[in-house]
Amino acid sequence: MKKIIIAIDGPAGAGKSTIAKKIASILKIKYIDTGAMYRAITLKLIKLKTNLSETDKIQEILQSTQIDFMNEAIYLDGENVNLQIRSPEINNSVSAVSAIGIVREKLVAIQRQIGQSKSIVMDGRDIGTNVFPDADYKVFLTASIEERAYRRWLEMKEKGFQTSIEDIRQDLIKRDQGDMEREINPLCKSKDAIEIDTTGKDTRRVVEEILLYIKEKNNVII
Ligand code: C5P
Repeated sequence: MKKIIIAIDGPAGAGKSTIAKKIASILKIKYIDTGAMYRAITLKLIKLKTNLSETDKIQEILQSTQIDFMNEAIYLDGENVNLQIRSPEINNSVSAVSAIGIVREKLVAIQRQIGQSKSIVMDGRDIGTNVFPDADYKVFLTASIEERAYRRWLEMKEKGFQTSIEDIRQDLIKRDQGDMEREINPLCKSKDAIEIDTTGKDTRRVVEEILLYIKEKNNVII
């Protein structure tokens, strides 16, 4: 199979990471969760008690920050931070951190570099519009706010975080608003992306829809 890039964007809790992981596993290509990268930087800035208006300090921190993916886990400066980046504290701050231009510049550069040499499924908010505007396939996933909040609540519960569905619902509304209204690379559907509303649909059905779209677009055999 030729090198391909599949961009999956959409608001929080629309099912991006579950779907993207499945697609990557079926196509035997790498999955990159860009939300995890923004979360990892947020974790570091919180740990270092950084004020978000301190641009010079943030620049310095970014220069000495290493982010890697290994065996489906994200490593921040060599430490596996998979669980830490899912905390309510990170949920509350990540949208503000991801609106900072120098943070986006650093992470987008890493994301483009990863996609340069190998086939990937990458999920996020600006993959089809900004990171890979020429991606071979672009999908925009949505779902009702109730379903998104319920899914995130289940995920958080499985990871051991105690929180209510209502708190998560409020967090998602606030985060979506921040992500859609920021000046740099806001969350929006790329004109050439297919949109799938995942409300009430199980993972298998959404994965099948995406695989069919890939097959029909390029006549590839999956
Ligand atoms: O996907 P997830 O909910 O983990 O993303 C966390 C946050 O990271 C988003 O709310 C958004 O603020 C930011 N993000 C972004 N651009 C991306 C991926 C995530 O701004 N490509």
